[in-house]
Amino acid sequence: MTAGRSHSDVDPVPPAATSAFLGDPDGHVSYENAIEQACDLLFESFATVEGPYAGTDHETLRERLSDLTVVPADGDSLESVLETVADEILVDSVRVHDPDCVAHLHCPPTIPALAAELLLSATNQSMDSFDQAPAASVLEERIVDACCELFGYPPGADGVFTSGGTESNHLGLLLARDWYCETRFDCEVQTAGLPSGADLRLLCSEDAHFTAEQAAHHLGLGEDAVVTVATDDDRRIDLDALDDALERIAADGHHPFAIVATAGTTDFGSIDPLAPLADRASAYDCWLHVDAAYGGACAISDRLRPKLAGIDRADSIAVDFHKLFYQPLGCGAFLLRDGDRYRLLERNVAYLNPERDDDVGVPNLVSKSLRTSRRFDALKPYVTFNALGRSGLAECVEYVCDLADAVAEEIRAAPALELCCEPELSTVVFRYRPDRGTDSIDSNDHDDVGRINRAIRDELLTDGEVLLARTDVDGVSALKFTLLNPRTTVSHLRAALEAVVDRGETLEHELIDSV
Ligand SMILES: *Cc1c(COP(=O)(O)O)cnc(C)c1O
Repeated sequence: MTAGRSHSDVDPVPPAATSAFLGDPDGHVSYENAIEQACDLLFESFATVEGPYAGTDHETLRERLSDLTVVPADGDSLESVLETVADEILVDSVRVHDPDCVAHLHCPPTIPALAAELLLSATNQSMDSFDQAPAASVLEERIVDACCELFGYPPGADGVFTSGGTESNHLGLLLARDWYCETRFDCEVQTAGLPSGADLRLLCSEDAHFTAEQAAHHLGLGEDAVVTVATDDDRRIDLDALDDALERIAADGHHPFAIVATAGTTDFGSIDPLAPLADRASAYDCWLHVDAAYGGACAISDRLRPKLAGIDRADSIAVDFHKLFYQPLGCGAFLLRDGDRYRLLERNVAYLNPERDDDVGVPNLVSKSLRTSRRFDALKPYVTFNALGRSGLAECVEYVCDLADAVAEEIRAAPALELCCEPELSTVVFRYRPDRGTDSIDSNDHDDVGRINRAIRDELLTDGEVLLARTDVDGVSALKFTLLNPRTTVSHLRAALEAVVDRGETLEHELIDSV
């Protein structure tokens, strides 16, 4: 007998909480009621709160939420629990649907995707084995194939859904490392670990996402293995600087195993010249990984697709659906040009995907992923693509890019503002420019410029008026619109710019008075 369990002749009685599960008509009624109440609370919160954020600061939230009981001994009605969620959490949530929520690569999700979310969470398919997700596994394969085609990949390409760019970049660089070690050093990293003294180097631009460095760390190469290359005025990797870096690496006897190109940098939306980078990768026999987490959405639009010219030559691609494809988090994909290279990650586990299943072609997604249990997130873009059509989605992507051009024009025309970079996608980086007529503020004094711009962003956040992002451009703080919401219009952005200038002028005068 198991320790701690007393013997009994009576069969265990199911717990009262069975009513909290789907599966019989009572459960279905509870589910319907719960969803209906959740919808009501959502709409109520949309109706009662104005602007993208209530402005509550973190200290107030910590203080307030410290009173919440997290694991009570006994439960309460779901109705009352959801009320609490609405009162305590929804009120102080960022409203990604608000046209003035223009800070991050953080999109309003489409309604078709939210319907899919309901189905995929309620059915809870797990993608780590066919017998936990039969139709879901096959549909994910179909969607991955369609995405490969969208990026111009040849037959034989493969891929998998991921939690987003971080995971996709990690997977790309993991395969790049292992492939390089196999072809150059005849070393199977999966079993033997890294070859000693290999001195692997990875190249990316200084505006590449931080996850390139993070992956180098996680992959046992160290962040010093990342060679960051300067960018040009448009924030694209400078090819001369790249060539110099490649030559230097070779001269030092190091090995450039991968080039990471960015199609849509997080800060500027800039797109590295992909075809010339593919040329470099073939010349040095290294892997080209394109981080298209943001800009990958151009593939859906006939008008914008030329921006990605050359992406079909990449060994692997990271694309995020939870950015410019309007899917709820997390939803991304990793695409691999030559699907055979997945052999580098091959793993068969008796309880999930025994080899005999591979022999008869049973879908095997667990070997393609960094994760084991995994949501059926692929359903979300499937439902969105089909509900909106390629054209419907393309219109959204094209619109926000047009919006960026229009607001850049406004910024150029405003004497109090400075445009930091020409927009390529839907991101606009700019600054309030102090000093128009006083001696005490030096518009070339980076400290003052940075301080004022940071304060503008902070005040607009606290007032919940506009949710702007911040970043540094050449070491000086700047402001940023990341435009994803197709409901945002030029007049919203014009008002946001006016708010920026108003704040800027007030802050500037305060600063002058304090000098
Ligand atoms: C957002 C982003 C990432 C990180 O992706 P997650 O989906 O947040 O993991 C990586 N690269 C770029 C260019 C990004 O914009």
